[in-house]
Amino acid sequence: MSNEIAQLLELQSIDQRLTEASERIKRLQRDRARFEEKVVAANQAFAQKKEDLKQLEHDSLMKNLKVDELDANIRVYQHRLDTAIISFKEMEDLRAKIISEKKRIGEMEDDALQTMDTIGQEKEALVAAEEALGERQAELQTSITETDDHLRQVDESIAELHTQRTTLTESMTDFLIKQYKSLRKKFSDPIAVISHTTCSGCKLKLSGSTIERARGSLGLVACEHCSRILYIE
Ligand SMILES: [Zn+2]
Repeated sequence: MSNEIAQLLELQSIDQRLTEASERIKRLQRDRARFEEKVVAANQAFAQKKEDLKQLEHDSLMKNLKVDELDANIRVYQHRLDTAIISFKEMEDLRAKIISEKKRIGEMEDDALQTMDTIGQEKEALVAAEEALGERQAELQTSITETDDHLRQVDESIAELHTQRTTLTESMTDFLIKQYKSLRKKFSDPIAVISHTTCSGCKLKLSGSTIERARGSLGLVACEHCSRILYIE
């Protein structure tokens, strides 16, 4: 194998690794964004639970106030019944009102008890949810830290590859680099090995003279079909 081919293969390998590394960076950044989204979602879900409980407590308070109000009404009706001189009709009305308000209080008290029960359960659930949230956050934070470590490693390997590339291209002729660059625009593997008389790039059969020239050491030989630079192992 000529020195030129060896250099080209090395350059191709560096560029392929650079492409893989930049794809890896994109994947890691996507992963990282997903972890961040999960952190936000977990926080929001917990905040919603807290808000629901607050609403429940507010509803419960409102129901208790309503019971107090009905109770006060009953006392007013009763006081009027006991002290005022009123018609039989009004007396009947007040009694009916008292019965109806008492019935409503009974219903509302049952409801209030149930709500208190629910509040108790929700409070317990909230404590458990807060604990779970803490664990989830820690897990996600670990994933984010690990992803950042990977990103740093890949960044370092990219920097290292660039250094290698610079050193390599400095030792190559401008002509060779130009040839490589124009082929690299079309192919991720511009340098192809001849395998069983075919170009390993385009998989087409090569002519005898092309193979013969590739075997020799007089300059670069291009595939007659795809123009990749050919070599023999
Ligand atoms: Zn070819």
